Amino acid sequence: MSSKAPKTIAIIGSAIAGPTLALQILSNPVLRSAFRPVLFDQAGAPGLEGHNEKNRSGASVGIFANGLYPLHRLGLEDAIRKRGYECGKLTTWSCDYAGGHERLNTQANAMWSHDLQTGVVYFERRALQSLLVEKVKELGGDVFWAKKSTSFQALTNGQTRVNFADGSDMAVDLLVGADGGFSSVRKFILDQRNSTTASDRWLPDFMGLTGFYGVSANIKAKGAPAQFSDSQLIWLDQGYLASGPCSDGKIRWDLVLTEKKSPSSNSPLESIPESTTDAERWQSAIIPSQYPYNSTVDILRKHNNVYHPYSGTLGELFGTADRIIRTPLRQRVWKQDEIQCGSTVLIGDASRLMMPTSGQGTGFAIEDATVLARELLKHASSPDTDKIRVALEAYARAREPRSKKMASMASFAASWSTNTGLFWKGFRYYSSKLQPDTLEVK
Ligand SMILES: Cc1cc2nc3c(=O)[nH]c(=O)nc-3n(C[C@H](O)[C@H](O)[C@H](O)COP(=O)(O)OP(=O)(O)OC[C@H]3O[C@@H](n4cnc5c(N)ncnc54)[C@H](O)[C@@H]3O)c2cc1C
Repeated sequence: MSSKAPKTIAIIGSAIAGPTLALQILSNPVLRSAFRPVLFDQAGAPGLEGHNEKNRSGASVGIFANGLYPLHRLGLEDAIRKRGYECGKLTTWSCDYAGGHERLNTQANAMWSHDLQTGVVYFERRALQSLLVEKVKELGGDVFWAKKSTSFQALTNGQTRVNFADGSDMAVDLLVGADGGFSSVRKFILDQRNSTTASDRWLPDFMGLTGFYGVSANIKAKGAPAQFSDSQLIWLDQGYLASGPCSDGKIRWDLVLTEKKSPSSNSPLESIPESTTDAERWQSAIIPSQYPYNSTVDILRKHNNVYHPYSGTLGELFGTADRIIRTPLRQRVWKQDEIQCGSTVLIGDASRLMMPTSGQGTGFAIEDATVLARELLKHASSPDTDKIRVALEAYARAREPRSKKMASMASFAASWSTNTGLFWKGFRYYSSKLQPDTLEVK
């Protein structure tokens, strides 16, 4: 083991991928003595007064066994049980816009992992983030909030200078971009590789879909057939609605619809609720997005009467949502030389952005952090700049093919779930209807 001072790793982004990497380093005695992770996030500390918690918190994220296993190994199993919600059976429906509905099949163990003996676990995004960040702090890690990185410079001694919006800067040995789908660290890498093509390669591709996400109160309709623990998948004419239980007795829901063009603006529009009548108080829960406010309201109104087997209608669900988020769905897997350059590397959504039909945005962020820590461990006995670069290259080589495979599956699942052609609609309907029920719970 090296007797030198630990190398500093600046991790930009303290949501899911960033804190998981910090935990992997702080939990391993060899990595801990070789590296000092420091987390930075542009958002204010969660829960701070005056900070707009609702706007930055997101709705819910799901984690399958591949994401749960590394978290269990980090000693988070009990916290996951307390703050997440393990889903029960999944029922698929076909519904119209006027309340008509038909149950197609029910699977008791649709998302069950035999290895871990668990189903998929859903969290409110902010609950998962808090769980990870609290553990980082417990292990003595540093987390700085309201610290937005604005630019980076490669220094001649192999270090990188990180410049922050507050005017401060820091020279670091290793720079990790865990700063999401619109990563500024990715911009830095792409620029270093080829500045003429950097801006074209930076933006993830629009996939012809728009997503609405919400977390709502637990409102069971009188006589509703579903249990709180059930998940639902509802085929609609122009897309689908997925919903399921979340922690604290809430219901999460995702409405994914086809859309011809991405919104023209790239930043949130200033918009004012068109009506604040009691009947449509839900409008104030809409978080400003790239979409004009009225377009979001109109689409939700159209879906007001869609049947929901737990709350009665989709209108009841969005009517009790504490936040409604709308975003164009984008996807892109950046190549290995686009997610690593020298001693800079990307993890999580910054390195690949996938549609929600993958169900793996969060799971892959956890996987990335775990694989990167494993590669660093192989070289931790003499962490000189060259060895770090070798570790980062090995990480990037391992992740690109896996991300590509999952992104293709997400694209296929999106076509299957939302394609409005007659063939696909029929295929979707009959293959769901002909699938026999499995009602025996593990
Ligand atoms: C506001 C928000 C809401 C989301 N809502 C949902 C949702 O409802 N459902 C869902 O499935 N997924 C959602 N996601 C995506 C989901 O969190 C990710 O797919 C997944 O968990 C991978 O996480 P990540 O840590 O790689 O990136 P992200 O979760 O995107 O986190 C990136 C972090 O980097 C920080 N950051 C960005 N730029 C900078 C900068 N220049 N300097 C410092 N910090 C920076 C951001 O504040 C953020 O905390 C959301 C992401 C965000 C940012």
